[in-house]
Amino acid sequence: MGMYKECPQKYKFRYVHMLPELPKYYFAFGTALHEVMEYIYNPANPAFPTLQEALACLQNYWSKTSFEQKGYASAEKEAQGLEEGRRIITAYYGKYGNSLVHPLSVEMKSTLDIDGLSLVSILDRIDYLGDGRIKILDYKTGKTVQREPDQLMMYQKVAENSPAVLHLVQKLDPKVKEVKVQTLSFYHLPSLQELSFERGSDKEMYEFWQKVLGVADNIRAGRFDPAPEENKCRWCDYHNICPVFTGKEYDGPSGWGAKIPDVPPPAYDPFNSKTPSSAVERQAPVPAAKTEPEILSDKIDRLGEALQQERRLRQEIIALMDKLGYKRHFGSKFRAELTQRMKLEFADKQKTIDTLRALQLLAKTLVPTQKSIEALLADPAVSAQAKTQLRALVQEKKEIDLEITEAE
Ligand code: SF4
Repeated sequence: MGMYKECPQKYKFRYVHMLPELPKYYFAFGTALHEVMEYIYNPANPAFPTLQEALACLQNYWSKTSFEQKGYASAEKEAQGLEEGRRIITAYYGKYGNSLVHPLSVEMKSTLDIDGLSLVSILDRIDYLGDGRIKILDYKTGKTVQREPDQLMMYQKVAENSPAVLHLVQKLDPKVKEVKVQTLSFYHLPSLQELSFERGSDKEMYEFWQKVLGVADNIRAGRFDPAPEENKCRWCDYHNICPVFTGKEYDGPSGWGAKIPDVPPPAYDPFNSKTPSSAVERQAPVPAAKTEPEILSDKIDRLGEALQQERRLRQEIIALMDKLGYKRHFGSKFRAELTQRMKLEFADKQKTIDTLRALQLLAKTLVPTQKSIEALLADPAVSAQAKTQLRALVQEKKEIDLEITEAE
């Protein structure tokens, strides 16, 4: 989702054409440190490794690939990376070496199907806080840490809906019926600093999920318009084959095992005013940033789609509960309750008014509504014959209401 938001065309190169990006040293460095953290906290090992063992784990992992495979510019830069990794692990042991505690899980891979989406995520570390509450910790190894709300909310969504996480919690605490994320933390390994955030509110989570569904709809509909920005495009691995620069759709190799073709940089650069005019002419126009009215239109569409989805879900729930003969049913967090009522419908409104007038009851109702006719039918002062005539004017229709409330 992050890549689609950054640039849908980039997402298309990566996940539709399946062209992997070039190796990046910072990813290799981050993966190596994650590997060591997994080794340190591995729940399968009753005893925690010593600092020397943790450093050996780093060394082993590091030696598996060359500096080019890791994305370093030279063997010297690679050696500096390893040294920085050693410094971080040593400092980590200096701070926590005597107080290491096994978390609930480490590097937990979770695949979850929600609303027709298959979410695959890896939760770096989960700590159990008691009473079904958990803390999710995500290791960061870059220069700085930024709050990335979408990432945190995705973790919350996955953890609170994952049967595997619930199962782990229930092994410690069998009474727990549902898991709640209490804290989401980024742990910055280079500085040994933790940055914690409160769980996303129901409103935030709802809005976030609508955004995810919106992205999924766009992907399914094949919407991959490029979103060029100078800073993004300069560092984008697909720059040389991107339609924004080449002026034509990519038609090179695709599929499992394909690589970004090694082609010369295109002559056209939409961010460079000195680009030759012949190249500019054959260039596809760069989409402009959206205006506020366009953003508003998008939001209206998104809300409309969310309401349509809600209506669809309501109908499906009512139909299924009706079929099963249920009046009430529970999800893991919410309760659904059906209430049934009979509604009176007038076949012919004018005829109803004429009849009420003839029965000298019009003054009592003024306007014939369901409520006023029901009141007349229940009124002992209205004769049985008049009631029979009134009943002949209305049809009874069964109506089912669905109420969804938070389960206690
Ligand atoms: S070069 Fe720019 S527009 Fe093209 S895919 Fe990369 S980020 Fe998107």
